[in-house]
Amino acid sequence: MTAPFVPNHAQRRNRVMPYAHVKRHLFEILMQREHGCCIWCRRRVIREAPTPGLPYPRNLATLDRVIPGAQGGTYEITNLVLACNGCNHDRGDAPALAYAARRGVVLPDEVMVALAARTEVAA
Ligand SMILES: [Zn+2]
Repeated sequence: MTAPFVPNHAQRRNRVMPYAHVKRHLFEILMQREHGCCIWCRRRVIREAPTPGLPYPRNLATLDRVIPGAQGGTYEITNLVLACNGCNHDRGDAPALAYAARRGVVLPDEVMVALAARTEVAA
């Protein structure tokens, strides 16, 4: 008999970051899906290692979780969009649909389908 799974704090809050090689793979998929541009401002993003001691550049590519981590959002590809560091910070934990409407952005189909499915479960 196996012990029941008791999630620790990080697991409950979904704050576990994917391994570096998984992250690299997620970035590759998103860079292709979004044509190397931030979903929110449509400006080109860069995939360079930030310079130590300097703040992250505004156009640095980030994984932006559609449902934020604080609300249990995961790093599944359907819960991710490619965002520049500036837009990711600007959005914060704002709901994706409201933020998308404010920015005049249409989210990718697979993201919308997953979001609808999750909302149905929650409702
Ligand atoms: Zn942006």
